[in-house]
Amino acid sequence: MTWIELEDGVYARRYAELDQTLGLVVGERRCVVVDTGTDEVHGAEWAAAVREVTDLPWTVVITHAHWDHFLGTTAFEGAPVWAHPGCRTEMVAHGRYQAEKWAQTYREQGKDELAERLLAARLVLPDHEVTDPVTLDLGDRVVTLVHPGRGHTDNDVLVHVPDAAVVFAGDTVEQGAPPSIGRDGYPLEWPTALDALLELGPRTVVPGHGEPVDAGFVRAQRAELATVASLFDGVRSGELTVEEALRHSPYPEDATRPALEHGQVG
Ligand SMILES: [Zn+2]
Repeated sequence: MTWIELEDGVYARRYAELDQTLGLVVGERRCVVVDTGTDEVHGAEWAAAVREVTDLPWTVVITHAHWDHFLGTTAFEGAPVWAHPGCRTEMVAHGRYQAEKWAQTYREQGKDELAERLLAARLVLPDHEVTDPVTLDLGDRVVTLVHPGRGHTDNDVLVHVPDAAVVFAGDTVEQGAPPSIGRDGYPLEWPTALDALLELGPRTVVPGHGEPVDAGFVRAQRAELATVASLFDGVRSGELTVEEALRHSPYPEDATRPALEHGQVG
């Protein structure tokens, strides 16, 4: 794992497992932690790394309700935990199911220790809601939490650091692999969510998985997702078969088929 200092007091921390990227914003009086990792062992490593940078009180933001973003929260004891209300709902409804499903995947990959850690992780539910934009005052700077509309999930939250022109995007942006468009994704609305992200005017965008990118990368990913949206629409209306749509996708079949067959329309 490595630290990247993006701007003064704004950090990304990269992990080999899942090519994951977690975030930290340090102000004069408090710090904001963006996502908490895949399990309690990972969360503890992440919390210790944050403590090497700052001993200020911490506030946690969960970018969306996928297990790898929230199962490390026990390490951030006493922190207020912000998320979209839909994130809490999904965690209550399917948090355990997500853990069991991925534990099975880890076992199939021979990663039994990760499977055990995943199943042992306790759920910490968010206790603060992001519906309208929320501004957190860190002392000498602010951080704004924004729900950009539905895209990767129905509960995505962006973490905007205006003075540094940095946006932590959760999984609404992905680098190094195609965006993950699953059963809880909204292909038709995702491009609009990225428009909302780009309107924040970021110089740097930090994906939930992969390296930090610039606004040009996000514009290109938006265009690809708009193509997927039109293919999804074509399949829904009967103009295209799934097989025809797959041939025109900017992404490989394994990334596109779940979107075409199971994407949400709201
Ligand atoms: Zn995700």
